[in-house]
Amino acid sequence: MRETIELPTGRCDECEQVRPAFGFVNMASEEGGPARSLCSECYNRGYMKRAGLPELETVYFEPIVRCDSVGRAHTFHFVVHMSTGLGIRAFECVDGCPGGYQFSVLEPPQTPIREAHGKLVKRIEAGIAVRYLRSSDFPGAASQNRLYAKGMAVNGRIDEREGTSVVVIDGREYSWEEFGEFLGCFNGFDFRLECFDSCEAREITPDPVRPNPIWWMPELERPEPDDDRHH
Ligand SMILES: [Zn+2]
Repeated sequence: MRETIELPTGRCDECEQVRPAFGFVNMASEEGGPARSLCSECYNRGYMKRAGLPELETVYFEPIVRCDSVGRAHTFHFVVHMSTGLGIRAFECVDGCPGGYQFSVLEPPQTPIREAHGKLVKRIEAGIAVRYLRSSDFPGAASQNRLYAKGMAVNGRIDEREGTSVVVIDGREYSWEEFGEFLGCFNGFDFRLECFDSCEAREITPDPVRPNPIWWMPELERPEPDDDRHH
């Protein structure tokens, strides 16, 4: 298991508290002095003050654990970050770094922070309840099992690992080459790749409703959806 609960920490140059390092922001000094590293609480307070907004109630949300559709537990950590709005980011920790599943929300700055957090938790729960890859499940030949796209749409994240671009699908990292193999069942098909900022809402179903291209034919019976227990 690569997941670690212990997150790296750092010391804030403003309040001198030791805080989770992923919330830190490096700020260039206004007087030309050395850059300062601020914890999310100090950074957010400064941001709200500069923007003339009421002081943000900084909350260090405890990590939460949620299970995905195959019963695998995922631990999410949170960072609150003010930018063009009230942002909260949730991420899993893989090898001491944010990785795996990641979700975020960006709400109007006046939004009560617990409300934004609640929305993010709902987004996490909806996001990990859906799977985009499934195993071919050759009976008695597990070593030959291959992953492939389960439906007509795949959601994921473009990320980087040691300088190499990777994709993260179902909370797991794959190479672009592997991703291409997952789509082997669509050889000859067209596709559309659309990118989203992590805070943007988007469709998450692997089977989006689309017009039937052969509407003049009687509808074929669809197979029963599988229960996803094998992947
Ligand atoms: Zn601080």
